[in-house]
Amino acid sequence: MTGKSTFHPSEGHLERVDTSQSPRAEIVDLTRYRSVISDWDRFRQFAANPEPTVFRVCRRRVTPEELIDRLTEQGFRVRKKDGLPDFYEVEEGPRPVSLTLEHWLGLFYVQQASTGIAGPVLDPQPGERVLDLCAAPGGKTTHIAELMKERGCLVANELNENRIRGLLGNLYRLGVSNVLVASGDGREAPEQALFDRVLVDAPCSGEGTLRRRAGRAPRQSSSFLGYVKKVQRRLLEKAIRVTKPGGTILYVTCTFAPEENEAVINGILRDHPVEIDPIKLQIPCASGLTSFEGQRYDSTLEGSIRIYPQHLDSGGLFMARLRRLEGSVGGDGLGAAEQEAEGWNAVPELFPGNDSSDIAELVGLATDDLKSRFGVSPVRLDKCKWILRGRRLWMHTMREWPVDAWETGVWRPISIGFRAVEFDSRGRPRPTNDLLRWLGHEVHSRIVNVNNTQLHHLLTQRSVPVPGDLLGPVALRRSTDILGRGAMTRDGLKSEIPRSRAIDLARALEID
Ligand code: SAM
Repeated sequence: MTGKSTFHPSEGHLERVDTSQSPRAEIVDLTRYRSVISDWDRFRQFAANPEPTVFRVCRRRVTPEELIDRLTEQGFRVRKKDGLPDFYEVEEGPRPVSLTLEHWLGLFYVQQASTGIAGPVLDPQPGERVLDLCAAPGGKTTHIAELMKERGCLVANELNENRIRGLLGNLYRLGVSNVLVASGDGREAPEQALFDRVLVDAPCSGEGTLRRRAGRAPRQSSSFLGYVKKVQRRLLEKAIRVTKPGGTILYVTCTFAPEENEAVINGILRDHPVEIDPIKLQIPCASGLTSFEGQRYDSTLEGSIRIYPQHLDSGGLFMARLRRLEGSVGGDGLGAAEQEAEGWNAVPELFPGNDSSDIAELVGLATDDLKSRFGVSPVRLDKCKWILRGRRLWMHTMREWPVDAWETGVWRPISIGFRAVEFDSRGRPRPTNDLLRWLGHEVHSRIVNVNNTQLHHLLTQRSVPVPGDLLGPVALRRSTDILGRGAMTRDGLKSEIPRSRAIDLARALEID
């Protein structure tokens, strides 16, 4: 890498930042915004410096107090981010906070403070139908899922296959059970099933991320920039069509450019059955623009918001919330309630493309095993729903999904909840690593406690002698944390944590 080492004040360590002069990595020309930013000097000052690392506590897994205690014990100093519930800024630490066991366990998500506003502004409710049209890598998806308290259906769609892998990695790490991941072009979202709320976190020129890139906009090809100009409006148009009347659409970008923000919304307000639902925040922010460089925009755009670097000591963000007007669905003879229910069906017990008649038997085997061998309470398992895919049961907490209505096949369901139980060659069930971590303290038996020395052996594919005559799958626990699955064999204890996760775990525990 041709970049130079720079001091990262947030974490008190040196980090390599690529400051090489790519012909495509443009320094963001901020001067064009001078006329619309009132506290210009502070804007310039914050924009010129790297932004602190901020994370969101995953409340389903841990309380903020418990997490902060754990990080403090390791030498991190963190402070609450004002006005952003569950967000903390890392002021100092011995290493990047993403290289900790707590991150590996999915107890928190490193997320830009500015983007932490989107979930609460969308305001998803438990039990609702929510669509995240451009979801990867999943910062907002995981936040929205958490606000929905594992109830309802959140469809997280993404176009880019590589980025879907990152999204899945985050969902599985955090153990999110109410997300259905879809692969497809947001512009082609099936329209048969309507949503209560839709997030359009649109691809954009990314100027607002300049603090992470030494003042530069992300390196993007001219074809991407050409694509972005057209795609934002089309994504938004589709989002409106798949939102139920009275429902909410949230448009978000991380750029300052009005052409990708107010201008896009202005065109939409003119041509579509939506109105601005003004955003009122208790944190510092600026109103959306009603004119720029001679262009005039709808006056209601004042109800949209702009976050500048100085507001939250974070990145730049634009956000406009729209309400789809009532009675704005085309006449197909259905009443509003029927139209809303259309396209939504109970999640089946078999993933599309699978056929099996023994699903009830497999679920029975799996849940009996969890109760009798691992001591999991039946009450906990009552909330779990199961869907068979190949020879694995996936666990989720969704009552209904819209997949049956995706007849055209332009959107593919990729994942629902997470892989939870697999069956060995003799048909015996084994809980997966993800399920054991998700259950955490709910696992009461077949637990083997391991220390760092034993873990070092296990994670480098070696077995460890353990007294007793227990055989078969076990939960590996270090201190109070269930890490994943082990297997007791006649040769001793072995780890069944997948290799790439094992490498990350060894690094997080500094036993690599
Ligand atoms: N919401 C994400 C988060 O909070 O982590 C960030 C989303 S990022 C701003 C925009 C995403 O849109 C990218 O992952 C990009 O691959 C995806 N994308 C671009 N064009 C798309 C399209 N036509 N349909 C769906 N996703 C698209």
